[in-house]
Amino acid sequence: MIQFEYVKPSTQKAAVNAVAKNANAQFIAGGTNLVDLMKRGVTAPQKLVDINGLPLKEIKKTPGHLYIGALALNSVVAGNNLVLQHQPLLAQALASGASPQLRNMATVGGNIMQRTRCSYFYDTVLPCNKREPGTGCSAIEGYNRMHAIFGSSLSCIAVHPSDMCVALATLEAVVMVSGPGGDRRIPFADFHRLPGETPHIDNNLQKGELIVAIEIPDNNLAKNIHYLKVRDRASYAFALVSVAAALQINNGTIEKARLAMGGVAHKPWRLFEAEKMLVGKEATMEHFKAAATLAMTGAKAFEHNTFKLKMAPNSIMEALRVAAGLEV
Ligand SMILES: Cc1cc2nc3c(=O)[nH]c(=O)nc-3n(C[C@H](O)[C@H](O)[C@H](O)COP(=O)(O)OP(=O)(O)OC[C@H]3O[C@@H](n4cnc5c(N)ncnc54)[C@H](O)[C@@H]3O)c2cc1C
Ligand code: SF4
Repeated sequence: MIQFEYVKPSTQKAAVNAVAKNANAQFIAGGTNLVDLMKRGVTAPQKLVDINGLPLKEIKKTPGHLYIGALALNSVVAGNNLVLQHQPLLAQALASGASPQLRNMATVGGNIMQRTRCSYFYDTVLPCNKREPGTGCSAIEGYNRMHAIFGSSLSCIAVHPSDMCVALATLEAVVMVSGPGGDRRIPFADFHRLPGETPHIDNNLQKGELIVAIEIPDNNLAKNIHYLKVRDRASYAFALVSVAAALQINNGTIEKARLAMGGVAHKPWRLFEAEKMLVGKEATMEHFKAAATLAMTGAKAFEHNTFKLKMAPNSIMEALRVAAGLEV
């Protein structure tokens, strides 16, 4: 049996110190990912710092932002009136993730920090650069149906599994963190990393830094939105491909477009060029098709995920169609 120490600090400072001062300590929130990783032997922290005693559950409207505490449960956020009113895209994405039981345990901070679902990462017998740097990537020549088509490297082709994060990328959320060096705000686009040669580092959080909250800047993106998730079964499954689409449309013309994809890269994949292309255009399927084609520039599939090269642009078009309220 693997022994570990468990502490439950009552202040943010004590929690941060407990992780910052021990190379082998980790925060635990809902435990829905971390406990699985521990049971499978993928990670073995010496110390678990339970953050559930901290007052980080608040959801509130502040001038210019929607503020969501890191310990707010995924189910609570998905059903919160402020979220539904101001950022319904986030609610849609959350409601599509995992199962009701899991959403009742999973927290916002834990969702952002969840690790890849690449099956080789969980299989401690096989090489995996993310789990054990320098051992190799079993997925590149292996069964890579769930894997990336954008931004992969020779070291890792895994994808980030979160639905919530795809919506947060689209909504240009800011991650508010507190660490041994003080507080800082990380724009969502800069939070997660591409694998490069260091796939074991998922994100730009420093040792001991605690996610305290996220803030979503006000926008006019509550009306024409859609989160589309394509998966193997509807009850619960990770996305093969997902799209978060948000449009601001005035008299049929697109004034603002935001798009991101999940299930296709090591981080939520923003479609900046497609967004730019759509601005000023009529909201028509012809323009949505052109945006989807542009979004696929640079896509690269592996042996078992070539289907994503078709599924991804089709999903972009469908998400935009529903967001714009166009008939089939
Ligand atoms: C069967 C199953 C199906 C799932 N399906 C989906 C799905 O379809 N879509 C989807 O998006 N997700 C899915 N998930 C993943 C689920 O959303 C995550 O497990 C969950 O969001 C993690 O949150 P948690 O609070 O339980 O995190 P924990 O397991 O407690 O922690 C996860 C990681 O986050 C770190 N952490 C937690 N809180 C903080 C914080 N505030 N600051 C810094 N670090 C922190 C921990 O140290 C740990 O490394 C699924 C999970 C399971 C088990
Ligand atoms: S894709 Fe990444 S996580 Fe999966 S086996 Fe390769 S290195 Fe490991």
